[in-house]
Formats: sequence, structure tokens, C-alpha cells
Amino acid sequence: MSQSPIQRVTVLGSTGSIGTNTLDVIARHSERYVVHALTAHTSKESLLTQCLAHRPAVAVLHSEADASWLRQQLKRAGLPTEVNAGPEALCEVARDSSVDCVMAAIVGAAGLLPALAAAEAGKRVLLANKEALVMSGALFMNAVSRSGATLLPIDSEHNAIYQCLPSDHRGGLAKHGVRQLLLTASGGPFRGWTAEDIAKVTPEQACAHPNWSMGRKISVDSATLMNKGLELIEACWLFDATPDQIQVVVHPQSVIHSMAAYHDGSVIAQLGHPDMRTPIAYGLAWPERIDAGVETLDLFQVARLDFEAPDEALFPCLNLARDAMLQGGVAPVVLNAANEVAVDAFLQRKLGFTEIGQLVTEVLSRPSEGCAESLESVLAADQWARDQAVELVTRWSA
Ligand code: NAD
Ligand code: MG
Repeated sequence: MSQSPIQRVTVLGSTGSIGTNTLDVIARHSERYVVHALTAHTSKESLLTQCLAHRPAVAVLHSEADASWLRQQLKRAGLPTEVNAGPEALCEVARDSSVDCVMAAIVGAAGLLPALAAAEAGKRVLLANKEALVMSGALFMNAVSRSGATLLPIDSEHNAIYQCLPSDHRGGLAKHGVRQLLLTASGGPFRGWTAEDIAKVTPEQACAHPNWSMGRKISVDSATLMNKGLELIEACWLFDATPDQIQVVVHPQSVIHSMAAYHDGSVIAQLGHPDMRTPIAYGLAWPERIDAGVETLDLFQVARLDFEAPDEALFPCLNLARDAMLQGGVAPVVLNAANEVAVDAFLQRKLGFTEIGQLVTEVLSRPSEGCAESLESVLAADQWARDQAVELVTRWSA
């Protein structure tokens, strides 16, 4: 039994796939964690159920109407939970002085400001929202080092690399004898398909990931390989790496979650079931280890591990992301925003699957200037790219 004091946790995006997995791990360790705040966008019924089970001090929804509904329900149930609404309320529960740890699990650009608020306030930040680093990697990493926050990556690949590197890996990979990071990818549900068949895929097919159960946006990103592109950018910021120090390796079984290759020829890998509770439990308890409710791998059952190179012609989004990172400035912000609009349009059947990559390519090719050194310029580039992308969706879907 651990002697650690009780940690007070805010779960941003608690009703999503990462959020519910986080609450599952927390519920296994009530002696270690209490929930300070739970937040959701519109899923007020799910948030009500979670509030009844976890009794947070604060709950946050997007609209005041939903917040008022939840307030009434909780009052009727005799819970003293404070219910607030809107983006600023998300930042407040992220930076609250009573909070030790913040799980940043809102999807997309909407997760940036509350994740940044947690980093600026010096919290233990469990970062699932990769879009925050893609949009504002320099700002985010500076906020972490200025405030002394502890940043623990939850994305399974980055969590794996974190586990494969020396405990203090700051200062660049070369300093620690690391030659390359090997970022594994399942290849998504359309690995090995023809271009003709891929052009016809539906949102239902794209959201049915072979190994992982995830939210709809990241499921589509996994199918286009944009997810791996966003993760490449994320890894550059987290581990002070350049894009050419990161090799993407398709590994269809999703058993190895990523690897670090050292100058002496050693390759260190982290393995486990494809279950996000493992990286979540790692982040919550680091540097200790706690039960995540996940079985140990049965290697006889796994039996084999396969590896292949990604098909970058069929899945152009990976290269788009690599190029955006190499270009620097606001190019990753533009990539991310155009992708969010395109994925949303695909999920609403306004765009075809292959048009996601085409739309991101088109928006990236339009002249956009700016540096990503201030939050204002990041948010302005995000808005500019969204406007361009919405205009294209309207034109292409007419
Ligand atoms: P999800 O769609 O299942 O859940 C998203 C959560 O964010 C929900 O609680 C939702 O209510 C909330 N939300 C959505 N839009 C919002 C907005 N505009 N304002 C406030 N809250 C909002 O997503 P997910 O699959 O849990 O992914 C969350 C994040 O974690 C993403 O950035 C994703 O890339 C990352 N991630 C997820 C997985 C996974 O296995 N699901 C793995 C690695 C990384
Ligand atoms: Mg991942």
C-alpha cells in the first residue's frame, strides 16, 4: 500500500473515451485520488451519472442551459456540486489551487486553453489532448518549464517512449545516447486496401478501429494516419526531437506501443494490451505503479509481432504533418485546424474520406504567415485555417 498523500484530480473531457477510462482507474484507488472537477461539452446525462458516482466539487458543461439542468438534478440528489458553464470555467478547474493533477482529455483545439492553464499553474498534467502540443508546442513546453509542472504523456506511443527513455530526458535525444524514436502505428482499419475502396469508406467504417476503442475524431485520424502525423509533431515537442529522428513503424497488432533506439544498437520497447488504462495509471501514479485493471500480456497468445513501412502514397496525411513540422511557424496550427474541420465534415457525410487529406493539402498550400510564439497568433492562425476549410467544404459538398 502506498503512503502517497491523496491527490486531487480534475478530469477535463470526463465523458469521453479517455475520461471514462481515467475514472475507471481512479475508482480502483479511492485511497489515492479524489475527484475535484468533471467536465463535458454537451453530454449532460453522462456527466450527471459521473457526478453521482464520483461526487466532484465542481462540474462544467458548455452551455448555461445544460449547466442549469445539471444543477437541478444534483440538487435533487442532495449533492453540493457547483455547476459552471463555458470555456473559462474549464480553465478555472484546471488551475484551481486545490488541484494536484489535471487529466487533459478534451478532444481538439478546444482542449488547448484549459491544458495550458494547468501547465501554467504547475500541475501534474496528464496530456491526452495531442492537439495542444501540435498547435502550441513551444508555448506549452515553455509554460511547463517556467511553472515546474510535471508533464506526463498519456498518448500510448508517447507514454511508451517516456517509459523507454532515462528518467530525466531533457536536453535532446543525443545527450542520452538515443539515435531514433520508433513510433508504432496500427495502420488503421484500411491498411492494405486499394485507393478505389478507400475513396468509398463511410464514417462507420472509419470509426471501427481494429485494436483501440476511441472517440470518433481520433478514430478517423487513425484511419487517415493523420493521427500518426499529429503524434510525430507531439513527439518532437515532448522529447526535443526533430522529425528525421522519428521513424513511423506500422505494427498491426498494437502490442508494442513505441520504442527508443540507442546508439549502442539497443532498442527498448514498451509492450502491453491496447488499453488506455495502462498509460493513464502510469500518469496518475508516476513514479509509482498501480493496478490499472489491465491483464499482463500473454505472449503465447500474441505469438507474433509484425512490422511494415507506412504506405505514404495511400495515406498522405502522415507526410503533410511531417512537412508542416519541418516548415514550422503556424503550419502545424493550420494543419490541425483544417483537419478538424475536414474530419467533422466527413463525419457529417459532407466530404469523402480521401477529401480529408486533399482539403488539408489545399489549406496548407494557401499563403498563411505568422509565428507560433504567442497565443494570439496561434488562435488567429487556427481561426484563419478553419475559415478557409469551411469555405472549401461548402464548395466541395455543393
Ligand atoms: P472523445 O470524443 O471520446 O471525448 C472528448 C471529451 O471532450 C468529451 O468529454 C467531450 O464532452 C469533451 N469535449 C468535446 N468537445 C469539447 C469542447 N468544444 N469543449 C469542451 N469539451 C469538449 O475523445 P477521446 O477519444 O477521449 O480523446 C480525447 C483526447 O485524447 C483527444 O485529443 C485524443 O486525440 C486524445 N487521445 C485519445 C486516445 C483514445 O484512446 N481515445 C488515445 C490517445 C490520445
Ligand atoms: Mg496514440
